Amino acid sequence: MNELLPIKNIFNNKDVVSIDQFDRASVEKLFTTTRRILKMSPSRRLNLLKGKLVTLLFFEPSSRTFGSFSAAIKRLGGLTIDYQNPTETSSAVKGETLEDTIKVFENYSDAIVMRHYEMGAAKRAADAALFIPVINAGDGSGEHPTQALLDGFTLRQELGKLDGLKGVLAGDLLYGRTVHSLIRLFNLFNNVTLYLLSPKNLRLPEELMKRFAKSNVKLVEIPTEKDIPRDCDFWYWTRVQKERFKDLKEYEKVKTRFILTPELVKERGNKNMLLMHPLPRVGEIDERIDSDPRSIYLNKQVKNGMYVRMGLLQLILGK
Ligand code: ASP
Repeated sequence: MNELLPIKNIFNNKDVVSIDQFDRASVEKLFTTTRRILKMSPSRRLNLLKGKLVTLLFFEPSSRTFGSFSAAIKRLGGLTIDYQNPTETSSAVKGETLEDTIKVFENYSDAIVMRHYEMGAAKRAADAALFIPVINAGDGSGEHPTQALLDGFTLRQELGKLDGLKGVLAGDLLYGRTVHSLIRLFNLFNNVTLYLLSPKNLRLPEELMKRFAKSNVKLVEIPTEKDIPRDCDFWYWTRVQKERFKDLKEYEKVKTRFILTPELVKERGNKNMLLMHPLPRVGEIDERIDSDPRSIYLNKQVKNGMYVRMGLLQLILGK
């Protein structure tokens, strides 16, 4: 099996499967490129991906990731083949393997952006594609690297740094792939403390707890919302991942165990903090907090998602 290539400042045609491929310099390079694109767009039509065709292969539902990749490619002058729900509409129904599907679309396009319901599927796809890069848009409860990159970029833009930050990661830390990637990203920076707040049966996987036990990122589990330190720079709330539960009764028990309310923010927050969420939210954020200027999940975070994906695609595929 092929090893995943580290990015190490060279993005050209590389697969992006995990944040583990990045070092700090590569993240900085992506942020710089994204800022440049942010300045040029949307007033100027960009042709950085002119002549490039990207397949969007989404085996699992998606609104933002699909939409923002599609917008990013088109805003850069490229084209897309859009394949949503191939599990229902493609030869996968007939029993085609993931590897075969990838090998076929490799003939049509210059890159594949793929979301899949199985952890590890992105790596399998990257191994199957011999000539073009594969970008992981979420693989089961594994990782969601581009979400972490956009979250990191947003924090950097808003707070001016990633070193030394203190934040809360709340909700489904077991199955939530966005937090799995975000912790890896923070580990590339210094002196970050993350307070982990989750129902007992949705704690961060033991393997990640162990891996980051002696790392740049300090992980501190807290039992209740009352234990959130008042001086956090951000709260990153997440949805309980219903689709990963075998027993829906178990999901019902925990789905809204932690709700972000204006009262909680008043009690445990501070005036400079940011309220973030990868979306979709399904009851774990009280809508009364939407109009609070500290809430950036429906605006800055979403918009940056498109720009960071533009930056990434430009570095991987652009001229
Ligand atoms: N949109 C994010 C993901 O695909 C978060 C979520 O679905 O809860 O992982």
